[in-house]
Amino acid sequence: LTEACLKAAGEAVALNAYAHMTPDIALERARAADARRGDGAPALNGLPLGIKDLFCTEGVPSQAASRILDGFRPAYESTVTQKLRDAGAVMLGKLNMDEFAMGSSNETSVYGKVVNPWRGEGETAELTPGGSSGGSAAAVAADLCLAATGTDTGGSIRQPAALTGTTGLKPTYGRCSRWGIVAFASSLDQAGPMTKDVRDAAILLQAMAGHDPMDSTSADIPVPDFEAALTGDIRGKVIGIPREYRMDGMPEEIETLWTRGREMLQDAGAEIRDITLPHTKYALPTYYVIAPAEASSNLARYDGVRFGHRASLGQGDGVTEMYEKTRAEGFGDEVKRRVMVGTYVLSAGFYDAYYNRARKVRTLIKRDFETVFADGVDAILTPTTPSAAFALGAMAEADPVQMYLNDVFTVTVNLAGLPGISVPAGTDRKGLPLGLQLIGRPWEEGDLLNTAYALE
Ligand code: GLN
Repeated sequence: LTEACLKAAGEAVALNAYAHMTPDIALERARAADARRGDGAPALNGLPLGIKDLFCTEGVPSQAASRILDGFRPAYESTVTQKLRDAGAVMLGKLNMDEFAMGSSNETSVYGKVVNPWRGEGETAELTPGGSSGGSAAAVAADLCLAATGTDTGGSIRQPAALTGTTGLKPTYGRCSRWGIVAFASSLDQAGPMTKDVRDAAILLQAMAGHDPMDSTSADIPVPDFEAALTGDIRGKVIGIPREYRMDGMPEEIETLWTRGREMLQDAGAEIRDITLPHTKYALPTYYVIAPAEASSNLARYDGVRFGHRASLGQGDGVTEMYEKTRAEGFGDEVKRRVMVGTYVLSAGFYDAYYNRARKVRTLIKRDFETVFADGVDAILTPTTPSAAFALGAMAEADPVQMYLNDVFTVTVNLAGLPGISVPAGTDRKGLPLGLQLIGRPWEEGDLLNTAYALE
């Protein structure tokens, strides 16, 4: 399997899904897995996976797709990748992504854009795989690995999954340890599986999840058997359809997809209920205040001293020039934009008007969900994205806010800390994949996976 994936990845370099291949490590771990074969072998023994470049992997370049981490080879392994390794999985390499996971099209990477393996019928234009976990999504969709890790701060697992016809799960905040994952917005970031189907997502999450004393926000609650939850029986479950997600100008094919999803769940015995999440319209602005604020703080550590890249300095340059030149060279435009917005909303004169206000609205968004779940709703069904995969270059050139609008259906889940999954659910008129999102109660990923299983 490992050899086959390495070969496929070697033949698909045009997709640019992998930032670094690690064939030596992969073959060594695959041989070790072969030696462990048989009864008592660990759950993922010998299964070749791709790892998003945001995860620190011991001795292997881990750059978050940024020039500022050029040459950084961590001395340690992230908890999630260590757990996958302990479960016998084989790392094929590090997957391309948007720089510091900021983006929705995988075009902000220092390694260059990732190309979606899908094309519109009769069309040749290269499409985005989505972002920020675009390399993960493209690699899974094109069979360059069996599954991959992703991270999701505002949709970065679910949106690329939707645009590539793959399955992506963002677990409850605190389900997977963030230790050793390059931080973007710490109160929103979660790692999760990107897979070919729901069963694989359950199996991979099992290995990734669990309490970790190294991450104070990781939850000390038991990890149930996710695969055992996949009974396919959703009779009597209550599925909420939030009125606020039916947006003006929503393409008809997204409407149709959503209706079909609702019918499938109803046919499987679920009760469909119209619900309201009244603060939804504030979610994008709230996210685009909180995420940059946390990012500006997290990215302050890249100073040219401790990690990666340092600019070459001129005569008479002091420490201030070193910071300025290093950060000017090391960060791309989108990252700089986030640092500037974040610094602004946290600054003394604007803190209350922006950051504190956003934190309060975040609480209201969270309460919307709590109210609905308290009323007996088990899961919420929405589209994952407002459109199918768009052409590379089409949006990157436009106003950055246009790009941010791609996250309209996904950011609420991170703001509320809930689990969310995107499953492939149909195609648009050009034959491109579309995804449906299910949002679940906190810590009930098993139930959520089972509902998604019924949609598959
Ligand atoms: N597209 C969103 C952003 O750019 C979400 C990214 C993510 O989930 N990492 O912030």
